[in-house]
This record gives sequence, C-alpha cells and structure tokens, in this order.
Amino acid sequence: MKSAGNLLPQVSQNELQAMAYSDPLTGLGNRYRMRDKVRLLAAERAQDPAPFTICIANLDGFKPINDLFGSVAGDEILCQVAHRLKACIPDGATVTRHDGDEFAFILPLIFERTGAERIGQMIKDVLSAPYDLGDRNVRLSASFGFAIYPFAGEDFEELLKSAETALYRSKRRGRGQITVYSREIAQEMKRATQLEQALRNAIIADAVDVHFQPIVRISDGSVVGFEALARWIDADLGFVSPAVFVPLAEERGFIDALSETLLRKAAEAALSWPRDLFLSFNLSSAQLMDPGTTETILATLGRVGLDPYRLELEITETAVMTSADTAQRIITDLRQAGVRISLDDFGTGQSSLGRLRDFTFDKVKIDRAFVSRITTDRASEHIVKAIIAMCQGLDLEVVAEGIETPEDAEKLNGLGCGMGQGYYYGRPADGNVTLRYLHDHYRDFVTIDRP
Ligand code: C2E
Ligand code: MG
Ligand code: MG
Repeated sequence: MKSAGNLLPQVSQNELQAMAYSDPLTGLGNRYRMRDKVRLLAAERAQDPAPFTICIANLDGFKPINDLFGSVAGDEILCQVAHRLKACIPDGATVTRHDGDEFAFILPLIFERTGAERIGQMIKDVLSAPYDLGDRNVRLSASFGFAIYPFAGEDFEELLKSAETALYRSKRRGRGQITVYSREIAQEMKRATQLEQALRNAIIADAVDVHFQPIVRISDGSVVGFEALARWIDADLGFVSPAVFVPLAEERGFIDALSETLLRKAAEAALSWPRDLFLSFNLSSAQLMDPGTTETILATLGRVGLDPYRLELEITETAVMTSADTAQRIITDLRQAGVRISLDDFGTGQSSLGRLRDFTFDKVKIDRAFVSRITTDRASEHIVKAIIAMCQGLDLEVVAEGIETPEDAEKLNGLGCGMGQGYYYGRPADGNVTLRYLHDHYRDFVTIDRP
C-alpha cells in the first residue's frame, strides 16, 4: 500500500502540519492551533503562576445575513472580520477561527476582569464598523465570553467550557454583550447543576406534579376549562417555581421528558372532568423549535385517550418568533388535528404585530402585568381595551390572566373580555381539589370513578 507521503509528493510535512492547524477560508489558525497554544501557555504559567485569558467571540445575526446575501458575501464578511481581528489584537495575542462565525483569542497579557472587559469593548468597536460588500454595506455586532486561567479552568477543555458558558450568558442578554466567567457564574452553574440533578431524579421518580387553575366565562363565572401548571417540591430544595425549572430543563435539554410526563398527568386528570371543559397546557419555546413536538403530543393524547379537541396549547410570542418556520409547521399540524392554540402572556414578548398576522391562533391570553393594574392605571386599561378590540376583529377568543379582585372582573366584563383566570376565581390546585371544585362550581357534575 502506498503511504500518504507517496500520494502527495509535492506537499511537505511542514505544509501538511500547517494545513491541519489553519482555517482555509481566513488563513487564521483553527481550533487545534488554539488548543496547542493554550496547552503550551498553561504549561509555562504553571511554573510561573500568572494568569492569562482566552475569549470566544460570536458574530450576532450572521446567519440571517448569510441566508439573505448568500454564502459568497458571508465568506467575504468572515474574511474581513479575520483581517480586522488580526490587525487589532495586542502583541503576543493569537486569534483563531472555529466553526462558522465563531472566533477565539488567546491573550497572554490579560490577567483580570477589567482588562478582559476593556479588550472586549475594543474588539467589539472594531467589528461594529460597516463591512463593504461592493454593492452594499452591512453592519454586525458580536458577543464575547472570557475565561481567565487558572481560575476558570486549569486545562484547555475546562477553560474553553468556561468561555463558552460566559458567551452563552452574553447571548442570552442580547446582542453585543461581554461576559467574563466569574465566581458568581461558577456558583450559579453549580446550583443549576444541583437543581438539574434533583429535577432529573424527580422526573424519574414521578415526583413532578401538575396543578390546575380554573378558566371561567367572566359574564357568569362558570368554569370553561383549566390551565395545567407544573409543581415540584424537592425534599432538600423545597418549592421550586416552574418559572425556574422549566427554563432549566430547556437549557439542559430534557424539556421533552418533563413535558411529556406533565402532559400525560394533565390529560389523565382531564378525563375525569366534564367533556366540555378544555385542558390548557403550556408549551415551552424549545418545543416549538423541535419538529418532533406534534407527534409527541398527539401520541401522548392517544395513549391517555384524551380527544385532541379538548386540548389547548399555550405558546408565547417570543417562542413563535425565534424559530418561525418550524413553529408555523407545528401550529398548523396541531390545529389540523383539532388542538387549539393560545398565545400566552400577550403583550410582554418580543413580537411584531405584522409577524403575528402570519400565524393562526385561536385565543389570546392578556398578560397579568396589564390586568393587575386595570382598575388603577389608565394606560393598562387602554392596552387591555385595545387587545380585546383586536381579538374581536380577528375573531379570536380572549382570556384575561391574573384577575385577583371582583373589581378587576367587573371592569373586564364591561370591556367585553370573554374569559378570565386568576386567584379571584381559584388558585392552582391539585387533581383532587380540582374535582371538588367542579362539584361545587359545575352544574350536574358527578364524579366518575376511574380505575
Ligand atoms: P403562565 O403560563 O403565564 O401561568 C400563569 C402563572 O400565573 C402561574 O404561575 C399562576 O400560578 C400565576 N397566576 C395565576 N393567577 C394569578 C393571580 O391572580 N395572581 C398572581 N400573582 N399570579 C397568578 P406559575 O404556576 O408559577 O407558573 C409560572 C410560569 O411557568 C407559567 O406562566 C408558565 O410559563 C411556566 N409553566 C408552568 N407550568 C408549565 C408547564 O407545565 N410547562 C411549561 N412549558 N411551562 C410551564
Ligand atoms: Mg400559561
Ligand atoms: Mg400567562
């Protein structure tokens, strides 16, 4: 058999080595170059204990530009970014390019947080000047994650992971943010990991429960359905809010398992309610980005035996906007199967009314933030009024969330709001209490004993 050397006689060993360590598009070093340099630096600094810093930078909004102007323009931007970075980094520093629009830096002379933030700001400014594509200019911003050796990691992998965590935090805060991995972040990560472990165990032990909050017709207070709300009380951590553990399950990639258990339990409970009452279930934003969601939901309903016509799914504007195409597909498929879709927390998400027009919903839930101040704040009252008018015009049902007093209810009734939900009508309660509530509040309700 011929060796690679024989097959490629014109490429020297050195050249092969260089190719393996560089990014062909920009000519910068690649991930392996960075890894080797960091290892070398860490070995040096282990003798002479002085910190150094690494950074990962990710361009904000590069993908839409690439999609809109084409990959040739995208490549051109990446080359211009590389050029600017090479020109602006301090002496002794290294810049590399990783996947796609991700770049990294090794900064041997940056020892602490303010130095890292200062250099992050400088690079950000350099990258924010317009990019010349011949026939047009485009602008970009970038997000940064810094990690300082040895505190944020004693080896390359750990250090890189810390920088990635910092970058993730930056991205979550919006565009153009700079984050330096800190003790607080390390603490939070530790707490989140403990919570994650406890939650994973709770799911396996079937210890996450669902409670139900009545949704009523405001004109006569009669119950029309219930919203399922996840509840978890951990032996050590105590009560943990779903507003904390649902996003954690999303972030750590096990929202599907959690949501399936919750939907199963909620649907089983709904079987004991009168058939004309609906079950409203919250779908997380990660689920609206996952094309498998429709099938999972319909399969769960099928196994439990709950008619899809009795299910409503609550989704948020922000979730719909983040991954519009996939969300659109999921919504269409579910509606075709008979499931109704309501837009939760309306008025608080990041949406444009124009984009919302492209989606088909059945119901809008006005966020508590407006409802709770409806009797005291004129602006809130006008917003609620406008949302109700919009829903009437678009033939959408409307639910006001967070009704706490008879005055709120009366006001909303006067404004023509069809449905309501809130502590005034009933707090979220477990399955048994919910059945008792139905006894007291639903005409002709008799409990059907189920095996
Ligand atoms: P959400 O879907 O907007 O649910 C309404 C929240 O408002 C619930 O909080 C409910 O207990 C609370 N609430 C209802 N009426 C009143 C009121 O009159 N006054 C006040 N102050 N609060 C009221 P909760 O149960 O803590 O849930 C928080 C959020 O967590 C939910 O907001 C929802 O986004 C999420 N969540 C809860 N359960 C699930 C679930 O099973 N799956 C998913 N994906 N998310 C869930
Ligand atoms: Mg909800
Ligand atoms: Mg809500």
